[in-house]
Amino acid sequence: MDGLQTPLRCFRECHSAEMFADDGLGTVTSREQKKVERSIEEVINVYKQIHNIPQPTLLREQHYQYLKKGLRHLSDSYECLDASRPWLCFWILHSLELLDEPVPAAVASDVCQFLARCQSPTGGFAGGPSQHAHLAPTYAAVNALCIIGTEEAYNVIDREKLLDFLWSVKQPDGSFVMHVGGEVDVRSVYCAASVASLTNIITPKLFEDTTNWVLSCQNWEGGLSGVPGLEAHGGYTFCGTAALVILGKEHMLDLKALLRWVVNRQMRFEGGFQGRCNKLVDGCYSYWQAGLLPLLHRAFFKEGESELSQHRWMFEQEALQEYILLCCQNPTGGLLDKPGKSRDFYHTCYCLSGLSIAQHFGNTDSHHETVLGKEQNRLAPTHPVYNICPEKVAQALQYFHRLPVPVENSSADHQS
Ligand SMILES: [Zn+2]
Repeated sequence: MDGLQTPLRCFRECHSAEMFADDGLGTVTSREQKKVERSIEEVINVYKQIHNIPQPTLLREQHYQYLKKGLRHLSDSYECLDASRPWLCFWILHSLELLDEPVPAAVASDVCQFLARCQSPTGGFAGGPSQHAHLAPTYAAVNALCIIGTEEAYNVIDREKLLDFLWSVKQPDGSFVMHVGGEVDVRSVYCAASVASLTNIITPKLFEDTTNWVLSCQNWEGGLSGVPGLEAHGGYTFCGTAALVILGKEHMLDLKALLRWVVNRQMRFEGGFQGRCNKLVDGCYSYWQAGLLPLLHRAFFKEGESELSQHRWMFEQEALQEYILLCCQNPTGGLLDKPGKSRDFYHTCYCLSGLSIAQHFGNTDSHHETVLGKEQNRLAPTHPVYNICPEKVAQALQYFHRLPVPVENSSADHQS
């Protein structure tokens, strides 16, 4: 284990030299950037004043209480997420598994019954009971059920109908729409590939032409955009890359351009990641961007790249941990985008997921930990493709691979 007594990067003399220089030409963007840097500097200064021996601490107990409460009761401010209720289940359950906090069997069973009510009679899951099926809550529901990992949870998923739903959103060019009559973007490909691979319903034709469509989303910057021709973006880049990993085609990306793009999204002063070039740091990109590094490491390894480290991902793992632990924790529990923003379950899930990626290098065969601060800061590892704990992925794959792949109605029927 590394890092326990290493002085914090943000306490070094030279840290302020990493601040943004606008070369005397202020813009809206540069002013916003400076504002964020000043707020982070303030957080660091306050921390310095009250801690002689800096040991950033993960507020485990506070986060646990915040999550536990959310699983049973949500405040009025979550009304706007009424169409994302399976997401709330996933964000909370995954955060709890990262914190190694078990969910009582009765609560897990209630979540299964609730998600069963979100399943559409025509397949796939909706954002809430009696709504239309949509790929995003379908991904969240399947992930949540795999985290619960009981017979009851697995049995909620109607795999035949799920395959029908995936066909109903597949497009002739290989892409997927998010829901029937909805928009196309690369998130849909990831959601479809993730649920189809976890539940063993991938048929030879289901992802026909999908690889080429995803590849066409990689642009001159090196990252991927939501649809071909737009700006590269962290969330879309993760989705497209992870989808290609599931399909076994990630080597067809320009991997070096992608690596260059993503490592340049880690902010020099803040230590966290931005989602796009010239944007501000945001805690949730701790997963969407840093999560790309394990995928890239494996891809380069498969390509026979000989210079790869056997101990570290190709980003500043300690700097990201500093950003999350010092700048993204609400003292009463829950994590957030950046200082001054309020906590929510989405940022709690993706800050913790990114923290886990920054702590754990490797896979089950070869593993190296870099845990900043106290030993109690250590989270459980997460699977970089599915973002649930690796043993839950293995367990789901084992369960569903005993079942036959459903026979699909001929694809011509679906695409006519
Ligand atoms: Zn965010």
